[in-house]
Amino acid sequence: MNDLKKLIREVPDFPKPGINFYDITTLLKDPAGWRAVIDALRAQYQNTPVDVVVGIEARGFFFAPAIAYALGAGFVPVRKPGKLPAETARVEYALEYGTDSLEVHKDAIQPGQRVLILDDVLATGGTAAAVAQLVDNLGGSVIGLGFVIELDFLNGREKLAGRELFSLIHY
Ligand code: AMP
Repeated sequence: MNDLKKLIREVPDFPKPGINFYDITTLLKDPAGWRAVIDALRAQYQNTPVDVVVGIEARGFFFAPAIAYALGAGFVPVRKPGKLPAETARVEYALEYGTDSLEVHKDAIQPGQRVLILDDVLATGGTAAAVAQLVDNLGGSVIGLGFVIELDFLNGREKLAGRELFSLIHY
């Protein structure tokens, strides 16, 4: 996985001073790197029954559909407010300043379905914890949360205590 790190571009002070941004577009465009990421995530979950893979807007959408395809599961987008046309369920979560929210179609996940949640980066864990709550609220069973990158120093895992977590690359 250290080879993959070489494909991830670190951009200091983006989107604001003090944030070191892990840019995965340089990984996505590398044919071998992209394949290695999808293969590794598939390998992690291939022996776990999954009904749907949830991707979190926006960068989760790069990975979740490919993994859903590889696992023979469905794909469900969790989107920013106002984007999904039919009846939605919403979850609000705290940011450093203020709150944000995410939505999913109410009929996207059926009670008892086994749900894998994927995103590009686990940072503080606020987003992932909110999405796991959203799936819980619909009666889905969160069988795992997977990330390409985990920023260990932000302790995002603490917000996801008791959940099954996997990250390919750690910083
Ligand atoms: P958080 O809720 O703090 O775990 O943040 C998660 C979301 O923010 C993820 O969906 C990431 O796409 C994005 N994110 C947070 N911090 C970074 C970072 N340093 N580099 C790249 N993306 C980040």
